[in-house]
Amino acid sequence: MRRFSANYVFPVSSPPIRNGIVEVDDNGIVVNIYKPEKNTSELHSTEFYNGIIVPGFVNCHCHLELSHLRNKIPQKTGIAGFVESITKNRNTNPNDIDSAIKHSLEEMVETGTVAVGDICNTTDTLLHKIQHKIHFQNFIEVFGSNPQQAQECYNNVQKVLGKFSEKFPNNSSITPHSTYSLSNPLWKLIGTHLEQQHNPVSVHYAESKAEYEFLENSSGPLGEWYNKAGIYIDTNRKTSPQKIITDNIPANSNVLLVHCTYATVNELKRLQSFFNQTTIVTCPESNLYIENSLPDLSEFLQSGFNIAIGTDSLASATSLSMLNQINIILNYFPDISFDAVLKMATLNGAVALGFSESIGTIEVGKTPGLNLISGFDFDKFRPTVHSKVKKLL
Ligand SMILES: [Zn+2]
Repeated sequence: MRRFSANYVFPVSSPPIRNGIVEVDDNGIVVNIYKPEKNTSELHSTEFYNGIIVPGFVNCHCHLELSHLRNKIPQKTGIAGFVESITKNRNTNPNDIDSAIKHSLEEMVETGTVAVGDICNTTDTLLHKIQHKIHFQNFIEVFGSNPQQAQECYNNVQKVLGKFSEKFPNNSSITPHSTYSLSNPLWKLIGTHLEQQHNPVSVHYAESKAEYEFLENSSGPLGEWYNKAGIYIDTNRKTSPQKIITDNIPANSNVLLVHCTYATVNELKRLQSFFNQTTIVTCPESNLYIENSLPDLSEFLQSGFNIAIGTDSLASATSLSMLNQINIILNYFPDISFDAVLKMATLNGAVALGFSESIGTIEVGKTPGLNLISGFDFDKFRPTVHSKVKKLL
């Protein structure tokens, strides 16, 4: 049994508790949360820290297998430039890929992440993941614009899924890459798969204006890139991001819409009413890195959407620390409270990934993990750029 206390405990499911004490058993299960006016004289051996204690973080969007691309991709080139740079960097030495994944996972653990929605195109991350206690939702990603290669793409992704399912039988599923990168026959193939499984569905959504332009009339930066790369384009689609996913992802799905930088509130409301559960996953550092633009999170929050946070990959982020993303949001959206952003980084992500029964809040019976945030500004009640996160449990 261990007891942790700090200037404030933020359970997330209830208001912050000044000098609160969290009692945790040997399995990491929260057994009691004490308010200081009660029982404190009976509590021996409490570990007191300067700062605040929060639940373990949930990173709803990452591509761990791209960790070797840290500092390799030019910034602010737009989505087409980014996709082109990623493609050019495909042939990296497998040892470098492997050690980058190992290092990134260690960084995630140290910075207090307890669950990750991770996009997988290969099995590169699999053996590293089983060595950590992090909850993983493995999204085995499929894309392919050429209708004639749809079955081949689908067969390949099934092979990757098979390997992940051996180790993560309940938390591995096929997911579409984006609204613009799958042919209609490929959408049909995965639609059948999605109807038969219960995992969430993650899709890169409205990450760029180019996405809307490309789906509308096959033009713009993405169209130009596809032409340059000699990749087949279906020029007859004349569609939109919203229509593509409501036509192809089953309505009873729990959907993670990743980015939504250029999505309107009305568009998102329509999607929210269409799907069983909808979460907007914002990856602010990545959006600034690639498109130099952010979604209007204040408006999204006022509209009542479930918003969660992802780091995205190290190809478009400088670190996998969730505190870094929290600080970016607080910096760019001064009207959003720390409480609200903390909820995005914990409970909302746990709900989106289906882990909220065990993590996301400090509540009796849960195993949320505990993080200490030091360097906290108690006047403004928010972290500062000097704040650090330390995993306590
Ligand atoms: Zn991504």
